[in-house]
Amino acid sequence: MPEIVETVQGEGLHTGVPSFFVRFQGCSVHCFFCDEKDTWVRRENNSIEIDADEIIDQLEVMNPLLKRVTITGGEPTEQNILALIERLQAKSYAVAIETAATGDYTQQILDNKDLFVTFSPKQVYSPSSKIQDERIWARADELKFVIANKEAEEYLMQVILAKLKDVGNKCPIFLVADWYNQADCTAQIVELCKQYPGHFRMGFQLHKVLQLP
Ligand code: SF4
Repeated sequence: MPEIVETVQGEGLHTGVPSFFVRFQGCSVHCFFCDEKDTWVRRENNSIEIDADEIIDQLEVMNPLLKRVTITGGEPTEQNILALIERLQAKSYAVAIETAATGDYTQQILDNKDLFVTFSPKQVYSPSSKIQDERIWARADELKFVIANKEAEEYLMQVILAKLKDVGNKCPIFLVADWYNQADCTAQIVELCKQYPGHFRMGFQLHKVLQLP
């Protein structure tokens, strides 16, 4: 069973919106700045065999009025969560996913047209990880990109902007500072926002600042 918490979204377009967070274990991306390293390892009885109905029963016990679920990790596309997403939607939940699109199930997950997709590309930090479905560039409803070094800026300008332009996706791009190097990275983001007005937004992680679950 993945970790399930009821809280408020702290990032992106839905900041402040109440949501369940279903957090799956397992991530092979291994970003150096990751602040959730304990999610890298798949634990016994976690995520591999997912009982969608069991999860939904738990949500309904926790708060039957809340009909929003954000699926995250780890890297959730490394799990077979298709049935869970479909069962949640059949029960009228709005379902969002936060992903680097690197897992084996990316393609099937992106086939689900009703999913709100937060895309967080990580190739510049993890060259061995590969985007499994290029449709992610068109499907992203918002893009979250962590600025953690100077190389990130080159990737942002030469890859991210170019890919989004190619597919005509004008989704908002939130630039988020490396949590462990806030001062330098925030200054870098402010400069980018100033140099390219209309392209980027400063991304905040209010759940961390406010120490929400
Ligand atoms: S993709 Fe996310 S969970 Fe995985 S290592 Fe990177 S920041 Fe951590």
